[in-house]
Amino acid sequence: MVKAKIAVNGYGTIGKRVADAVQAQDDMKIIGVSKTKPNYEAAVAQQLGYDIYAPAANLGAFEKAGIPAAGSIEEMVEKSDLVVDCTPGGIGEENKSLYEKAGVKAIWQGGEDHELAGYSFNTVSNYEGALGLDFVRVVSCNTTGLCRVIYPIDKAFGVNKVRVTLARRAVDPNDIKKGPINAIVPDPIKLPSHHGPDVKTVIPHINITSTAMKIPTTLMHLHAVNMELNKECTAEDVRKVLGSQSRVRFIGQGISSTAEIMEFARDIKRPRNDMWENCIWSDSITINEGELYFFQAIHQESIVVPENVDAIRAMMELESDGAKSILKTDKALGL
Ligand code: NAD
Repeated sequence: MVKAKIAVNGYGTIGKRVADAVQAQDDMKIIGVSKTKPNYEAAVAQQLGYDIYAPAANLGAFEKAGIPAAGSIEEMVEKSDLVVDCTPGGIGEENKSLYEKAGVKAIWQGGEDHELAGYSFNTVSNYEGALGLDFVRVVSCNTTGLCRVIYPIDKAFGVNKVRVTLARRAVDPNDIKKGPINAIVPDPIKLPSHHGPDVKTVIPHINITSTAMKIPTTLMHLHAVNMELNKECTAEDVRKVLGSQSRVRFIGQGISSTAEIMEFARDIKRPRNDMWENCIWSDSITINEGELYFFQAIHQESIVVPENVDAIRAMMELESDGAKSILKTDKALGL
């Protein structure tokens, strides 16, 4: 099988995980990853066997650091069929003309606006609409986590209204520049937050309102979800629907916090402690006065990784059925 040639522009938190996930598939391969500086992450990328590309002006610095680059980012883009842009939010937008000029497809991440790609993607919700598209945005970690549960529950029972409060990790574990380290920050103070409208970029008919706060942790986001449903159902009915989703994991067995979920991910020997699934406390699934409530935790560093692989498969038309892509991606990842 001829494998689709994939480049990762921006080998950071998301980029390094997407690169490994793509490399694990049998219908696509990484032809290069880009780094701006020859730091420890570039050295590891080299050890993993990835061809590294860098901004043309920095090629000398890579050579000097003993991590020779294979060429410029422009050269990497030209060699690829599709670029997964994992640069920090706002930078990806600047790269659009580069991809257009080279005539390659591109995926952006949730830090970019919906309008940049014109199609916001979540596998269970709208895989088929991405077939053959040139530009797609894989929505953020929080939006991915919400779409993965709202879509199947809407299909089964009809969702009249979603309310969600998000307790967001302040920063990723490797980030030493931001906080807070000792405060809870309503973010944003002006309500509602952008998360509800972002879900609507994927599932437009859903009536959803969100509020969010930043809390001093690096380990996962936590969502308190409330849904008004159109059909009467029990908590057990909801468990059945969510339990049928391969990217939803029910947690219990004494796991009472995000810290223990991350320890569990270490114990089951997940790469980089990644938890690709939504983690829902099974015991929290409750129907109260006809409304559904539950808690879910979202591993921000890894949850969007399977969706990036599926988005590639849809855009490259390697598989027309979203359910089959999910099976293929998950099997290759060991999920
Ligand atoms: P990051 O800062 O960890 O990584 C970004 C990488 O891009 C770094 O290696 C940086 O050196 C590189 N880079 C910067 N400017 C570049 C340029 N001009 N050209 C090429 N490379 C460049 O960022 P991240 O957390 O991986 O986020 C990437 C995207 O994914 C953002 O849109 C973000 O909103 C989204 N996202 C992040 C998370 C998360 O929690 N980390 C979750 C979901 C989605």
